[in-house]
Amino acid sequence: MIIAKFGGTSVSTKDRIQTICDIIRSEQKRKPVVVVSAIRGVTDLLLSLHSASREEQKNILSTIEQIHSDLIRSYWQNPPLDFSWYMKRCIREITALLGRKRYSAALQDRIVSYGEIMSSFIISKALSFAGIPAQQVVATKLIVTDNNFGSAEFLPKETRQKTKKTLIPFIEKGIVPVVTGFIGSSISGKVTTLGRGGSDYSAAILGYALRADEIQIWTDVDGILTSDPRVVENTEVLSIVSYREASELAAFGAKVLHPRTIRPAISAGIPVRVLNTLRPTAKGTRIEEKSVKQRHIAAIAAKRKITLVNLYSTDMLLSKGFLARVFSIFAKHNISVDLVSVSEVSVSVSLDNDEDLQKVVTELKEFTQVTVSQSFGMVSLIGEGIVGIQNIMKNIFSVLDRLNIMVKMISLGATDINISLVLASSQVDEAVAVLHKEMILKKGKTK
Ligand code: ADP
Ligand code: ASP
Ligand code: MG
Repeated sequence: MIIAKFGGTSVSTKDRIQTICDIIRSEQKRKPVVVVSAIRGVTDLLLSLHSASREEQKNILSTIEQIHSDLIRSYWQNPPLDFSWYMKRCIREITALLGRKRYSAALQDRIVSYGEIMSSFIISKALSFAGIPAQQVVATKLIVTDNNFGSAEFLPKETRQKTKKTLIPFIEKGIVPVVTGFIGSSISGKVTTLGRGGSDYSAAILGYALRADEIQIWTDVDGILTSDPRVVENTEVLSIVSYREASELAAFGAKVLHPRTIRPAISAGIPVRVLNTLRPTAKGTRIEEKSVKQRHIAAIAAKRKITLVNLYSTDMLLSKGFLARVFSIFAKHNISVDLVSVSEVSVSVSLDNDEDLQKVVTELKEFTQVTVSQSFGMVSLIGEGIVGIQNIMKNIFSVLDRLNIMVKMISLGATDINISLVLASSQVDEAVAVLHKEMILKKGKTK
């Protein structure tokens, strides 16, 4: 059995849908389970409903309906009537939800879930019309999560049970399930979402639950590249990447994978492949447990905006438990910290920009001085054994010196796989481009 996940671009045009049908037909023997994202742009539109006026909401909803009906008409020419009814029904349901008195995170998750509900309907019909028996399955029937709306975490035991019970009967009958990515359901039955880009995670969760032979992530690039091709020229495809490298790349900003995708794959030992729907015959990237470790820089990832929290307190000198107190506050408010740097009297931590820090800062201020800055970004060089590469730091700093780029904070990571540098937001793209050219393209990947 394999899981094949198709991202936003891959479900957005007639030709791409045709490609999906061809791919699934050629994989039919391996019992594919399809996972789909919303059509590109639709999740953003659904999220924008919250701050829109009534009039704007109407326009946004009609744009969403139009996007889907245009795609249906371009694929089928004479589509069955119930296709447009299905879309209209979804729009009506969203309208009813928007009419509720209180807008909450739970309500938002219900509303955005329609992106994947609508796209999975289209893809399941396209497969059926192509002679491949298929059934739309909404993942609220499969993926059980906690209550953390907007970024929910799946519960392995419950999810495995439900997924097997629901999907295996289809698979045994030769019917391809077409599952909504991105969404799940809390134990009490409320719709949840897994965080932006979460359909990759959905695919990995289903792979884990079904003990699939492979998880395929079909996207709009040839695989995992040495850096983001939208920012950097001459990126190269990495044919093989270790689980740890892929996890670090995703966690430190490479959008090609949702940061939590790799964990379920590791725990069930399932290889992940990243493939290109625009060039289905390209080999892509295989992510797996690599046994032979060579010291190298595999790729460079970046976050253009991060938040830096600096704590300063002379009480830290010789005092016990200061750091424990600081981190318990971050933990209590469910805020995850990326990098940490500590001196005798100060602590700096870096966080993602979208974290809500107000309560944390208030509590920290009870015992330390706090400054928060949002003008920084982070560049991460990632590869197995990276810290041990000869002269690596000297070479990084000589490149940055030449560009007059100052490094505010640095972390070598205890696991010898990641060197992260915090620098001014405005200099991130330039630093990535030049480091990529000098440290990856010129020097080759192996040292
Ligand atoms: P999908 O909609 O298929 O999930 P995404 O837009 O979420 O696609 O992810 C694919 C994009 O990730 C690529 O178009 C590319 O711009 C970006 N990206 C960032 N870093 C990398 C990298 N190291 N390798 C490949 N793609 C990357
Ligand atoms: N549609 C969701 C998003 O745009 C999930 C995904 O595409 O993976 O974030
Ligand atoms: Mg994505």
